[in-house]
Amino acid sequence: MSCVFCRIVAGELPAERVFESERVLAFRDIRPAAPVHVLVVPKAHVESLFELDDRELAGELLLGAAEVARLQGLDRGFRLIANTRHDGGQEVGHIHLHVVGGRRLGPMLAR
Ligand code: AMP
Ligand code: ZN
Repeated sequence: MSCVFCRIVAGELPAERVFESERVLAFRDIRPAAPVHVLVVPKAHVESLFELDDRELAGELLLGAAEVARLQGLDRGFRLIANTRHDGGQEVGHIHLHVVGGRRLGPMLAR
């Protein structure tokens, strides 16, 4: 298995897990961009948001992100990011939602 997030789900690679539901896992990003930076991924491999067509899984991912925000105490707010495919800057080809917060974030888009 070559997908890094599939390997984390399988327990083959270490990760600091912060939340888990039936079909979703959340763990800390290894290169955090803010005090809280958590990735929310489906346990089953889906390449990107462009391929996502499972409504239940989509809901579980979004609710997983909301639960991570609550668990991490992000009541002041946070940002949810889904980098998608090449132009979106996606580096890992397994869909993931970034939950980023813990400080006031800057403008959304880097040019
Ligand atoms: P993206 O550009 O949206 O594909 O972001 C991929 C994210 O995955 C980056 O923020 C990386 O720091 C993060 N990442 C890559 N490998 C790992 C890993 N083994 N554990 C945790 N986060 C990772
Ligand atoms: Zn995968």
